Amino acid sequence: MPSQLFTPPSSTADVPTIRLPDPERIFLDRAERFDALAKDHSLGEWLAFMGRLSRAQHQALQEMTDAELPDAESLERARIHRMPPLSTASFPRPSTWRDALGRIIELVNDDAPEGLRETLSTLMVTSSEGLEKLADQLLSGEPDKNDLPRLPLIAAALQVLFTRLAVQLDATRLPPMEARSICPVCGNLPVASIIRADGPVENLRYAHCTLCNTEWNAPRATCLLCGDDEKLALHEIDGDDGIARAESCESCNSYLKIIYQGKNAHVDPVADDLASIALDMLVDEAGFERAGPNLLLIGAGGE
Ligand SMILES: [Zn+2]
Ligand SMILES: [Zn+2]
Repeated sequence: MPSQLFTPPSSTADVPTIRLPDPERIFLDRAERFDALAKDHSLGEWLAFMGRLSRAQHQALQEMTDAELPDAESLERARIHRMPPLSTASFPRPSTWRDALGRIIELVNDDAPEGLRETLSTLMVTSSEGLEKLADQLLSGEPDKNDLPRLPLIAAALQVLFTRLAVQLDATRLPPMEARSICPVCGNLPVASIIRADGPVENLRYAHCTLCNTEWNAPRATCLLCGDDEKLALHEIDGDDGIARAESCESCNSYLKIIYQGKNAHVDPVADDLASIALDMLVDEAGFERAGPNLLLIGAGGE
């Protein structure tokens, strides 16, 4: 059973603590959301490309075969010790992500923005060792400045692999984390949180993993990083659609966006996060730092 901390204050006992992504829909829904957001947006061209990238991720995910999970004993050990079973810090990542990368590049290459062409061709001739090093850089959160332009593509391929891995797990056998900011599957940080408006999870808040697309239940009006529930403030851009807000915490100086599905049924934490960069600027200026990165924006100054 979920721990006390993670049991939502609701009479419905069957509310999932952890929601694994739907491999048939996750990247396709994201692509459609990017398409919609790209219309009449000052960053429209870039968002439209992100839509094509998400579609390529969808294709690569459909073509990827199941990856090898840790054995049952290791999974159980992770559960008992409340450790993410596929922690990117220790889990040896299967090399299939590099095939996904090749496929993604192939799919987006033809209509990639001018500025990205060179990055794509560089990636195509990067050795396997070179690619693994780039992946390590991205996941350690300490990227080399010269490699920044290549990292969003590396991230896109790793998202495909870790989404494939996540959906092979049994959500009811995953450990709720002591730290609410940590993904219970891969140990990464949330890209944003979302107040769901669909079915049994209505009005519940879920944090959305920046890497594997797993969502875990998180209490509302509580800082995910430090647990404070008193020094919080909500920020929004005056006059916008109210879909994205930032919840800042003065105790730890972090902020996490909240995406409201009630305002639009088709929101996606990754896409709506990228479309609301103006909100990041506002909150950054007020002195707060993002609680977790958007891996597709590493290198574009969004981290
Ligand atoms: Zn994750
Ligand atoms: Zn805090």
